[in-house]
Amino acid sequence: MSYFKDPPKKQLGQHFLHDPGVVRRLVAAIAPAPDDRIVEIGPGQGALTRPLLERVRQLEAIEIDRDLAAALSAEGVKVHVADALEFDFSVFAPGVRIVGNLPYNISTPLLFHLARYADRVRDMHFMLQLEVVDRMVAAPSTPEYGRLSVMLQTRFRMEKLFRVSAGAFRPPPQVESAVVRLVPLGAPPGCDAARLEDVVRKAFSARRKTLRNALGLAPEDFAALGIDPKLRPENLSPQ
Ligand code: SAM
Repeated sequence: MSYFKDPPKKQLGQHFLHDPGVVRRLVAAIAPAPDDRIVEIGPGQGALTRPLLERVRQLEAIEIDRDLAAALSAEGVKVHVADALEFDFSVFAPGVRIVGNLPYNISTPLLFHLARYADRVRDMHFMLQLEVVDRMVAAPSTPEYGRLSVMLQTRFRMEKLFRVSAGAFRPPPQVESAVVRLVPLGAPPGCDAARLEDVVRKAFSARRKTLRNALGLAPEDFAALGIDPKLRPENLSPQ
């Protein structure tokens, strides 16, 4: 791929997959069918894009780097030159499948952004840093459990699929990676989404506080919830 003349841009989290075995495993995990509609976030030099295009008729990509986007467009890929953090994913018809080897520097805000579109996606498969995947799937009362776990677990069933070592990328990142699958839960949480975001943010803003103190509720109001007042946010399941 000699026409990618520019060196990788660190500030855009550019670590390009070059291990064909990892690409094969990732494509096998996605298991694309010809009629699937796939959106790839951060296609980069197309390591994942090309094998996916061999299997599906409809693939669009969102890439912030104009040069990389132009190179893929020249190959016939429909690329939106945009910031995935700002992108309105509701432009895609429901049932879309979202995939990507995500830029690690924005992975957490990007996951919060994508969670808002859970009712429109069929599933999502992402390569992320291992530590973030561990936080996504963490159980209550473990050190990894926090705001990301709760916000995603209220919208998705998630599965950590396999680990990927740094050597699979050029340049290698400083961290280990893992592939995760997110499948939307049948029913969204039975409360207002913005309110849920707000309560979870407040709850985890001071991890050492009890839930009652973190939310600043009067004892009698908290008692009405029927939750043990000694519990911290990290001890409670998303439900
Ligand atoms: N998918 C390619 C691969 O596996 O080799 C590239 C993965 S690289 C880790 C992340 C890609 O996301 C880069 O191409 C980078 O330019 C792009 N990117 C970074 N920030 C982005 C953003 N905010 N919105 C869309 N794409 C972004």
